[in-house]
Amino acid sequence: MADDKNKNNRKWNVNLNNDNPDKRRTTAYYLLMALSVLMFLNYFILPSYMNRSVEEVTYSTFLNQVSTGDVSEVKLEENQITFVATDDAGDKQVYMTGLIDDPTLVTRLEEADVTFSKDIPTEASPILSILVSWVLPLLLFWGLGSLLGKQMAKRMGGGAGGALSFGKSNAKVYVKAGDSKTFKDVAGQDEAKEALSEVVDYLHQPKKYQDIGAKNPKGILLVGPPGTGKTLLARAVAGEADVPFFSISGSEFVEMFVGRGAAKVRDLFKEANEKAPCIVFIDEIDTIGKKRDNGGYGGGNDEREQTLNQLLAEMDGFEANKGIILLAATNRPESLDAALLRPGRFDRRVPVELPDLAGREAILKVHATNYKMDPNIDYNTIARATSGASGAELANIINEGGLRAVREGRTAVTQSDLEESVETVIAGYQRKNAVISPKEKKIIAYHEIGHALVAAKQTESAPVHKITIIPRTSGALGYTMQIEEGEKSLMTKQELFNKIVTLAGGRAAEEIVFGSITTGASNDIEQMTKMARAMITRYGMSDAFDMMQIETQTNKYLGGDTSMNVSAGMAEQVDREVLDIIKKAHEKAAVLLSENIDKLHELSRFLLVEETITGAEFMEIVGK
Ligand code: ADP
Ligand code: MG
Ligand code: ZN
Repeated sequence: MADDKNKNNRKWNVNLNNDNPDKRRTTAYYLLMALSVLMFLNYFILPSYMNRSVEEVTYSTFLNQVSTGDVSEVKLEENQITFVATDDAGDKQVYMTGLIDDPTLVTRLEEADVTFSKDIPTEASPILSILVSWVLPLLLFWGLGSLLGKQMAKRMGGGAGGALSFGKSNAKVYVKAGDSKTFKDVAGQDEAKEALSEVVDYLHQPKKYQDIGAKNPKGILLVGPPGTGKTLLARAVAGEADVPFFSISGSEFVEMFVGRGAAKVRDLFKEANEKAPCIVFIDEIDTIGKKRDNGGYGGGNDEREQTLNQLLAEMDGFEANKGIILLAATNRPESLDAALLRPGRFDRRVPVELPDLAGREAILKVHATNYKMDPNIDYNTIARATSGASGAELANIINEGGLRAVREGRTAVTQSDLEESVETVIAGYQRKNAVISPKEKKIIAYHEIGHALVAAKQTESAPVHKITIIPRTSGALGYTMQIEEGEKSLMTKQELFNKIVTLAGGRAAEEIVFGSITTGASNDIEQMTKMARAMITRYGMSDAFDMMQIETQTNKYLGGDTSMNVSAGMAEQVDREVLDIIKKAHEKAAVLLSENIDKLHELSRFLLVEETITGAEFMEIVGK
């Protein structure tokens, strides 16, 4: 039975991607195009161009020329006279003049011995004239139009899916062959997998659910930050359920022409209906599912709104027990239109969060299976050094490690490759050939040791893992890596403050040793200000504001924009409190470094020589 389905899928896939270039047809189109250009020239340009050689003269000039005997030939046409006469230079020349009701003309022409004739007005067949003046141009335009359409569609990257191909959804059907994913490929994310395996089970045994009267959820929304494996999870559901799987990205509905997006939605659901039971997956649904607003000129984005309305209508249209399950993914759930989230639509949310320590270790291991790894690799250390990294970043770390191993001529990826790629991925590539003067290098070394020493001299701050003054392409000139000992979900006020003190340590060291300050602390300044601000506005960690929420985070997953909830007067006080924390932290860092000035010098000199020192080497000198 499974085989049957696969065959079905495959056949289907071919149908959808039917964009084989038909050479013969293309040639025909080119011919048509050439022909139409010719006709265009013939009808509109050439005659007017040729007319220029026919000279228009007055009727009296014409009569004059007839009487002087210059005219040799006259043709009386419907409303003009064309005649040939010898001009002043003695050449024959074609002239024309208006036709005047002149009864004496014939006698004059006879007297001057001119050959003359009159056109018999041809009664053109009406069918022929309609053909020539209407049908032919229409055909030409149609031909040209579809030719251009084809070309544009091709250029816009995909035969049937191009901008001008009408009414086909570009849903991709995943075929079971080769790259099909299962839940095994998704590491961690146990809650998400559990929620989704219910869907898989429903698709396998719908009867079990229907007997009880339970309907499957119509729509499931995967919500989480970028790179956490939402798309991967959806594909895994397809692999597990073994039913046709339509996958389309929200942006593919966004079309050049109004109404086309809606047509695509209709088309997608029509296909899904035929193939039910099946799964329809709409990735990045926020592109079409954004809140409808009636602001702005012309009432907002009509095209997107129509598409969304069509989607809502289709969702209401299909029967829950028909076996169509709608999956969608987004990293901005708060921007979705409320209508999409109503019961009966995407009424179930599955959070897909950033992995924790165990999750990170599992993800690293899953991806490591595709590489030749040194058997002694300690994945736990790598996982601990990558707190806050997404699944995608971890996958990238493994791959960068592989690339580095090849570069260094190794046959397997080692621990150091992975450690290096942690920095590559998290802090940017090493820039070994960057030119930095010895004086600058000295400042950077003191700056980094300043951070590390302040961290080491405070209790409750993460131990130093590595210090380096090899610059990164990210722009960081040095880098002090601290690794938390366990996974931390909560941070105390003291820990947060200590972090800020550590960040201030770089600048403080510069001040103490060189008596001047540099731009090197700009990133530290940004970070410590953010942290100090959050302490006051979001964590309720100041006496002045107690547990009052002053800022609301609006976009939790993307960057975390915030908006202030307080009056301008209050805002001023918030700024003062933030400044107060920063000043205290800066002072504390300076005191700590002054008390340990010998260590600061010794460590900095050591780092200057070594360029990179490990946490162990660092602690050895500190502890001496
Ligand atoms: P999202 O759709 O959430 O932005 P993706 O599903 O596209 O993220 O994930 C990108 C890549 O990151 C995946 O192809 C996979 O290689 C890796 N990845 C992310 N999360 C996981 C995970 N939990 N287990 C294994 N690999 C993961
Ligand atoms: Mg995705
Ligand atoms: Zn710094």
